[in-house]
Amino acid sequence: MANSFTLTIIKPDAVAAGHIGNILQMICQAGFRIVAMKMVHMSESEAGRFYAVHRERPFYRDLVRFMSSGPVVAAIIDAENAVERFRQLIGATNPEQAAEGTVRRLYGTSVERNAVHGSDSDANAVTEAAFFFSELERFTY
Ligand code: ATP
Ligand code: MG
Repeated sequence: MANSFTLTIIKPDAVAAGHIGNILQMICQAGFRIVAMKMVHMSESEAGRFYAVHRERPFYRDLVRFMSSGPVVAAIIDAENAVERFRQLIGATNPEQAAEGTVRRLYGTSVERNAVHGSDSDANAVTEAAFFFSELERFTY
């Protein structure tokens, strides 16, 4: 059975531009329930660990610098089939290619500064949720 949760990050670009409220509203209106949430400013080393899967990619250094450039909002959000449904809500990595009405289309400004992160698999959602939150910080309804 698919995970009931995924991990999202409202990235530094969207936080700085004042979009936290609008993005959380889109998430809640799409039927997700927030079960954990915090605002954090990651160090380069922390951002590097979070995106370690991309270590060999040409954009890795810039990505790490960007993700540690300011505060972000990390959250665990619940819904049936959460990983796939959330990827649909946020749209393609490049905001220009993201479907109308998706979070990245509305709030992303470049392939790097694309407003939000969403886990890409159930296994990564588990790892990423544990990166930001302890068991005590996750609520059940
Ligand atoms: P995320 O993991 O943040 O949800 P994604 O799964 O859609 O995004 P990935 O391939 O995992 O895309 O890339 C991770 C992040 O790295 C992207 O969200 C974006 O911020 C940045 N990125 C990806 N491709 C590029 C690129 N070609 N140039 C610059 N930055 C990029
Ligand atoms: Mg990804």
